[in-house]
Amino acid sequence: MALAQETKRITAQFEYTDEDVNTGVQEFLRQMNEGLQKDGTSMSQIPTYVTGVPNGTEKGLYLAVDLGGTNFRVCSIHLNGDTTFNLTYSKVAIPKELMTAKTAQELFAFLAKQIELFLKTHHEEHFEAHTQRRQTISTPDGFADEHLFRLGFTFSFPVQQFGINKGTLIRWTKGFDIPDAIGKDVCALLQDEIEKLHLPVKVAALVNDTVGTLMARSYTSPGNTSTLLGAIFGTGTNGAYVEKVTNILKPVEGQYDKSTGNMVINTEWGSFDNQLNVLPNTSYDIELDKMSVNPGIQMFEKRVSGMFLGEIVRLVIVDMLKNPNISLFRDENSSFNDWQSTTTIGGDSTIMRQWGLDSSIMSIAAADNTPEFSTLRQQLESQLHIYAASSEDAQAFKNVAYAVGRRAARLSAVAIGAIVLQSGLLSDGTDEPIDIGVDGSLVEHYPYFRDMIHEALSAIKGIGSEGTKRIRIGIAKDGSGVGAALIALVAAGME
Ligand code: ADP
Repeated sequence: MALAQETKRITAQFEYTDEDVNTGVQEFLRQMNEGLQKDGTSMSQIPTYVTGVPNGTEKGLYLAVDLGGTNFRVCSIHLNGDTTFNLTYSKVAIPKELMTAKTAQELFAFLAKQIELFLKTHHEEHFEAHTQRRQTISTPDGFADEHLFRLGFTFSFPVQQFGINKGTLIRWTKGFDIPDAIGKDVCALLQDEIEKLHLPVKVAALVNDTVGTLMARSYTSPGNTSTLLGAIFGTGTNGAYVEKVTNILKPVEGQYDKSTGNMVINTEWGSFDNQLNVLPNTSYDIELDKMSVNPGIQMFEKRVSGMFLGEIVRLVIVDMLKNPNISLFRDENSSFNDWQSTTTIGGDSTIMRQWGLDSSIMSIAAADNTPEFSTLRQQLESQLHIYAASSEDAQAFKNVAYAVGRRAARLSAVAIGAIVLQSGLLSDGTDEPIDIGVDGSLVEHYPYFRDMIHEALSAIKGIGSEGTKRIRIGIAKDGSGVGAALIALVAAGME
């Protein structure tokens, strides 16, 4: 009984009421608009130079490459014009020595070589036609060539973007360190190496993965509707949405197509409310932040994304384990009193270590509705080496995970709801769906995550249950493939 009561007391701290949701939405709208006015605000609201989203009727053959960390992916995408596409794909590990090469040229020459290999393997005809044409009429490589591939370049490192295919590297992350590349335009670096190999390829767009998600969903969404927002709920969380250019009050340098009146904005909402004006802040959130590599930063992400939810659950469980007044994961027959000697947790369990609990077990807990929680107990044993958990233990674990997961879903609704309100689409006089594309393991695999988002959306003033019925949240796949290709397509229209 004491355990159930204590669990109730703790989980109550993760309640995020309808009123909290509404307060959150107002602050989100305020910080979004502040980010549209000036630089250096909590949410960066980065203009992406992408001025339109596809509706599924687009056609053509495009290339996409993705340099994100360990691997370099090259793919070609054939857009069929009926919301479907065919994708051909290759992946190669980046040699360690190139991650810390002396010059940027060494790395980018390797990337261009991989593109050449891909084209020779999968698009021989294009390649041959281009080579012949170059030899017979000796035109400079490039542009009015019907065999020219437009390429979308997903580059997942911090860049300062100046145009749809222009952006300078701010700094390397994820183990890369080539000082020579800092401050250089990464599209130009890649294009230069492509030219050296005389490949029929133009680097048409620099792509952020969240924008790719938006584009991929917009192309594949049912009924040829355009998508308003692409959002990622995976290791991290972020969203990109379609904004009216007239709302972007800070200067947008460089060229872009002004005819649509719209521009996709990369919100970088992981850092919403870093100042903690409205975000919930339990003692567990405080501890997680304090122990993190970037205290005070990405405060929204630290309450919402897959990387952190498991850690919050772990901190709660550890706190409960150390409480002498309750019995969680204990061997009741043991004659010792301190928790360490009576616990049923194996010595090799990771539960006492930072990051020792992966969020995926939260999905297992949420999905296990059997009276004795057999699946959950099995997973506690295999993943966390917690043996012979009682039903009461499993119930307590499930309740804690549920409270943390539910709060994350309701916080996600704050971001989604604010963007729906900002768009003004609810008062457009139609009953057309307002389409949202989502990607990431959390939203894909956590049971009822989208239902919990919808429930919270219906509590938002200005949306309500009627408005919520119009909000359609669907999975968007492969933003760095088809999404990047679609950005290359939009960019080609601007040439
Ligand atoms: P990424 O965002 O890196 O592209 P994913 O979308 O697969 O990759 O997200 C990985 C994150 O999602 C990890 O933090 C992991 O703990 C979490 N995760 C993976 N599977 C699940 C699941 N079934 N339920 C909840 N979280 C999960």
